[in-house]
Amino acid sequence: MSSFTVAQRLALKLYALKAKCQLTNRQYKMVTDLVEDVVNEYAPGFKCLSQYQSQRLVESIYPVKPTAHDMCPKGCFLFGDQTICPSCGGRRYKTNGTPARQMKVLPIGRYIQWR
Ligand SMILES: [Zn+2]
Repeated sequence: MSSFTVAQRLALKLYALKAKCQLTNRQYKMVTDLVEDVVNEYAPGFKCLSQYQSQRLVESIYPVKPTAHDMCPKGCFLFGDQTICPSCGGRRYKTNGTPARQMKVLPIGRYIQWR
């Protein structure tokens, strides 16, 4: 953790707080704005990392990536080769070809290997 800048360490802590408290993007921005205001009293010009930068930082130090699985838009079925939900008839893809809904799963095996 010591090889990170103050802004990066703060970003990691704030991003963990965002996840733990399930803050919306707007709430997270309010927190980072508040932190910036306070820190700027002691270190003028200090800027918190943006949410995008914070997310990239977290991903760079955490090598296990979640895998995405297509699911029924209503959440009743996890698609394999199907494109129509056998339970409710929901479509797998939107008209633009992207999945209607996805569920992300952290592969526990790779997580254990990484730890
Ligand atoms: Zn369905």
